[in-house]
Amino acid sequence: DLPDGSLVDLLTEAAHRFGPRVALDFFGATTTYAELAGQVSRAAEALRRLGVGRGDRVALVLPNCPQHVVAFYAVLRLGAVVVEHNPLYTPQELEHQLTDHGARVAVVWDKIAPAVTGRAEVRTVIAVDLTRALPRRKRWALRLPLGRARAARAAMTAPAPDALSWAELLAAATPLAADHPAPEAGDTALLQYTGGTTGTPKGAVLSHRNLRANAAQGRAWVPGLRDGEETVYAVLPLFHAYGLTLCLTFSVGIGATMVLFPRFDLDQVLDAVGRRPPTFLPAVPPIYERLATAARDRGVDLTSARYALSGAMPLPPSTVELWESVTGGLLVEGYGMTEASPIALGNPVSPARRPGTVGIPFPSTDVRIVDPEDPSRDRPAGEPGELLVRGPQVFGGYWRRPEETAQVLLADGWLRTGDVVVMDDDGFVSVVDRIKEMIITGGFNVYPSEVEEALRRLPGVRDAAAVGMPGPDGAEEVVAAVVLEPDATGGPEELRAGCREHLAGYKVPRRVVPVEELPRSQIGKVLRREVRDRLLAGD
Ligand code: ATP
Ligand code: MG
Repeated sequence: DLPDGSLVDLLTEAAHRFGPRVALDFFGATTTYAELAGQVSRAAEALRRLGVGRGDRVALVLPNCPQHVVAFYAVLRLGAVVVEHNPLYTPQELEHQLTDHGARVAVVWDKIAPAVTGRAEVRTVIAVDLTRALPRRKRWALRLPLGRARAARAAMTAPAPDALSWAELLAAATPLAADHPAPEAGDTALLQYTGGTTGTPKGAVLSHRNLRANAAQGRAWVPGLRDGEETVYAVLPLFHAYGLTLCLTFSVGIGATMVLFPRFDLDQVLDAVGRRPPTFLPAVPPIYERLATAARDRGVDLTSARYALSGAMPLPPSTVELWESVTGGLLVEGYGMTEASPIALGNPVSPARRPGTVGIPFPSTDVRIVDPEDPSRDRPAGEPGELLVRGPQVFGGYWRRPEETAQVLLADGWLRTGDVVVMDDDGFVSVVDRIKEMIITGGFNVYPSEVEEALRRLPGVRDAAAVGMPGPDGAEEVVAAVVLEPDATGGPEELRAGCREHLAGYKVPRRVVPVEELPRSQIGKVLRREVRDRLLAGD
């Protein structure tokens, strides 16, 4: 049985049970659970005075930092709705989302306040000064890779930022009245944009109940967890569904200490290990690879990390081996999506985990594997089909997109994931690929992942992305972009020949194009649609 209620209860209970324990560690500056609850109460009062009330959207445009956590719970406390944004978005990307949800109040990293001030419906910008909170010698840590965002920002004529100061607002605020109405389980807590891997991100409407359920499912999943004693490293962005749930709700629910990193930086993370060793580290495969390699090479002791949970993209078994040999802990893979708050399946956190699979359904979660053409028809055991998920974590629909909602939310609460999976005899599920990215060539279906795996196995290939492109006769054909190792000797023809040994003829890419790097999403997924666009443009 999963507890019901609002996310606010998670923090209230943690403050009650673990008041003096450190909740947040930001480069060594700490906030206890009691202090966090106090700051949330004052921030909620400050927001209330600015007119924020039940159901109002409030935009957060912040990297990982203590203020992010405070703002998140303060908005929720008022029954208002958090909308997370990537602070590295270009002003255009931001404006698109701000227009979509129409928040009037935004809490923003001060460096990018001009990108939000006066945009869409935003009337009040509260700027968070992160630099001031840090000792001078640590300020380099905030040099985020603004990159393309900066270029776009330089071009825009920024309105003068007449933003309010977060620190001043908080200092002036009194606590929120204890009897101020709290949100109910069914209220919307979060409007969370999807990863944007296959198209423009869609706002997923998630209730307190959805998110609370997923935090509780996660808690039940890891029986060895010790409430009030874990240390969780928040290296994943809190603005993404995965980092948000693992760090903001799950971690608070278990009274963990959260060590916050504004971005993933090897030196910062390894530096923190000596001060506050991690016991639980949710991340994505490239992070495990880099951390384990660096820890091994530099002799950094990571054996405190008992648990690690990978998701969002396939976890190579070789990464599991590396991580587990360096830490002695477990690295298990799970599966999720924003629309499922986000976790739906996971490997058992025990030696029974099965590398190469995403595991079995989470507690209170049902799955079906169906014919994508007709989701009422179940696929026979062992055959690939579209994964459907049902459970208390499944979202209520997309924000103001009734048609897209109807396409993915079926009667009886089943969510269409859009992913093709296979289940083995023991119920372990493997992800094949996204239906949207399947290539149809000469009447055959080709999953890009299969082509990419064959390419990655060839010597000299570091990474690969396969896409469907119009061929000379107008029909779709398989084309692959590859990132080669610096010392690679084989050219495109050798690679095609290599593929022929592992793939049926129709799956072998017609063209193999060497590229410098593959475009990736905010959390690190390869953006095949962008690969395709670049290839079409002849880059
Ligand atoms: P969009 O829906 O906007 O195109 P997105 O699907 O990448 O973007 P998310 O909700 O962040 O946005 O990601 C969910 C998707 O990530 C899943 O549908 C699945 O395709 C993929 N995914 C999640 N976990 C895994 C995993 N362990 N292995 C392979 N793929 C995974
Ligand atoms: Mg998706």
